[in-house]
Amino acid sequence: MTNLSLNLSESAAMYPDHPAIRLDDDVLSYAALDDAAARVTTLLQEYGVRPGSRVGLMLPNIPEFAMIFYGILRAGAVAVPMNPLLKRREVGYYLGDSGAEVLFAWHEVAAEAAAGMSGGRLVPVAPVEFRAFVAGRHPSAEPLSRDGDDTAVILYTSGTTGRPKGAELTHSGLNANQAVTARTLLLIGPDDIVMGCLPLFHVFGLTCGLNAAIANGATLTLIPRFSPAKALEVIQRDRVTVFEGVPTMYAAMLGVPDREQYDVHTLRTCVSGGAALPVEVLRGFEDAFGCIILEGYGLSESSPVASFNHPNAVRKPGSIGTPIEGVRMRVVDEDRRLVQPGEIGEIQIGGHNVMKSYWNKPAETAATIDADGWLSTGDMARQDEDGYFYIVDRKKDLLIRGGYNVYPREVEEVLYEHPAVAEAAVVGIPHPSLGEEIGAAVALKEGTTATPEELRDFVKGRIAAYKYPRAVWIVDELPKGPTGKIQRREVVVPQGTPR
Ligand code: AMP
Repeated sequence: MTNLSLNLSESAAMYPDHPAIRLDDDVLSYAALDDAAARVTTLLQEYGVRPGSRVGLMLPNIPEFAMIFYGILRAGAVAVPMNPLLKRREVGYYLGDSGAEVLFAWHEVAAEAAAGMSGGRLVPVAPVEFRAFVAGRHPSAEPLSRDGDDTAVILYTSGTTGRPKGAELTHSGLNANQAVTARTLLLIGPDDIVMGCLPLFHVFGLTCGLNAAIANGATLTLIPRFSPAKALEVIQRDRVTVFEGVPTMYAAMLGVPDREQYDVHTLRTCVSGGAALPVEVLRGFEDAFGCIILEGYGLSESSPVASFNHPNAVRKPGSIGTPIEGVRMRVVDEDRRLVQPGEIGEIQIGGHNVMKSYWNKPAETAATIDADGWLSTGDMARQDEDGYFYIVDRKKDLLIRGGYNVYPREVEEVLYEHPAVAEAAVVGIPHPSLGEEIGAAVALKEGTTATPEELRDFVKGRIAAYKYPRAVWIVDELPKGPTGKIQRREVVVPQGTPR
């Protein structure tokens, strides 16, 4: 029998009193979490939810997320995680598209969610009331059996183009991708305290954080809203052993002025993914905190991890490593032919982790997954002689200046080498004769100074002439997505910037 919720019930059978999830002083044991999930299942059944029904959950990182998530899976239903910051139109789109019958929404955003709903049932979630409400139900019996290939989660993602599409991730794909990988590669077990600062409604936090911890009897310690000082405080307080984050989180922790005052010696493994980890950030973080960062790569459509710098293999900074067990990756040209090692092409992924399809979108699915099961990622990369992959950039972020290709990431890597640079985003500025001019928005580290001219000249001296940013401007902070990834497309080019 397969059901991703067995990850919770089996851990609860083995470690009933062990803490499964905590948010500050609120600590839930495995037995308590499993019991609450089983009662949520009963509640859903009262609402008429059946195997295959979709159920939305629009919650921040709170323990109730886990109760409801596993409760939905236990009922054989499909979880549709949603960002609690979505506005009514977006809520309407996600619920309408997925056909969700029930939506669990954080009580503070329940009114906004309600305004976007055109049917279905809304369940507001305020922790104390919700737990009392759920405690009034009987726990359901065993989780309902599912086929491994049945959809467990629909995760909305923009993919490479267009409006958000629901990636259908399966019970066995998610289980193999993280529950097993976390145990075999990262050796996550009951003695581990895993940091839960990535949003649980995103694939990285949901599977590499929540499910990887729960499947292996570890404790997930939640932070609802990431701040670098709070993260360091929680690492010290809870003796965190495994930290998973996006590159901007590592850069931000490195930039905390009094970071030495935190005792973070318990950290044994850090994992970075979701965006390119600048090599300077990796080195700076490892020197400052004495803990290695292993970089991985993946996307919502691949459940998410496809490749990783395996702990026992040679680690190559700047590389996304090699495919994980059961996953294949290759680099192809525009005609989907394999390129030679060292040549740049698009990454394709095959294996158990590839989504089943985009929900109700056969044309988009066919454009993304070919007849042989290869998923086109839109990520450009090259492979070295040892089989390690290096992401060059996303296909859609490529800049073309006067006919020359410029990959923003390469220019950003150089900016990060400047000691004052905390974050950088290289973007195209429309230009009448060149097509695009290269621009860079930069946020400086606290307590440092650098002028735009100085930064421009710094890059100019280290990179081919057509690549360096002619316009550099300093900003307080760069625009970020829900996980903390820098959003190049939202960078605003200041008025008066030469073009
Ligand atoms: P999402 O579906 O939101 O998880 O975004 C997936 C995208 O994040 C991928 O298609 C890549 O463009 C990017 N990404 C993930 N991991 C890495 C990495 N290690 N280096 C560079 N880009 C990455």
